[in-house]
Amino acid sequence: MRIDLLTLFPEFFRSPLSESMLQRAQALGAVEFRVINLRDFIPDRHQVADDRPFGGGPGMVMKIEPLVAAIRTARDEDPEIKIFLMSPQGPVFSQDEAGELAGLKHFMLICGHYEGVDDRINYYIDGMLSIGDYILTGGEIPALVVVDAVTRLLPGVLGGEGAADEESFQTGLLEYPHYTRPREFEGHAVPQVLLEGNHQVISAWRRREALRRTWKHRPDLLAKAKLSREELKFIESLAERPDKDR
Ligand code: SAH
Repeated sequence: MRIDLLTLFPEFFRSPLSESMLQRAQALGAVEFRVINLRDFIPDRHQVADDRPFGGGPGMVMKIEPLVAAIRTARDEDPEIKIFLMSPQGPVFSQDEAGELAGLKHFMLICGHYEGVDDRINYYIDGMLSIGDYILTGGEIPALVVVDAVTRLLPGVLGGEGAADEESFQTGLLEYPHYTRPREFEGHAVPQVLLEGNHQVISAWRRREALRRTWKHRPDLLAKAKLSREELKFIESLAERPDKDR
């Protein structure tokens, strides 16, 4: 897979793309990142990327010409490329969307800045992506969020196959709790069932704990999760006894 990042601040990506999982994924050949400097598409001697908004108001707006020049170059090079603008006005990025993007061969994320981007960009892109209902200064951090969430789903990137399968959201629920040594810390013990080595009992316990914490912290997810009749009953019983079967 190849992911292109179109930005006014290419240096921003240097360290995040060269550490940890993102670095390993490139070394493995699972993904190639290309950071593209939007300024390379500004013919202007003074390299102006932004201008004042028509109609007045605060801030500056990113100009359409360099963006479209960069988009055209990308589409000429690869007609199959998908191009997304990072924008708080897009649909909110989710684990499902990460899975869909992970199935693409090549996509580009455009990082906005200032007040945003000339709205006519919508004629030239395949969609927008928001990372949530808050405003950041630029699209670089949102783009990195998408890059990270997608890259870790690519085959071979996470050590153990299936490491991503049980994670929060992947199953429609929050994930069960994790513990490692020591067995007891300042009076807080690791749940006994995890120490006893009965894998069936452990996986039943984990499923229950996943349901319990989803019910407690993200009840909105339960409405969409695929649950058995028994699991639905368990959830109903939590309203009366939140500690049931713990
Ligand atoms: N004035 C705009 C926000 C501009 S923020 C508005 O109210 O809609 C500047 C840039 O940061 C945006 O163009 C976008 O690329 C990026 N950005 C900010 N918040 C974001 C979010 N929640 N998700 C994705 N991109 C975001």
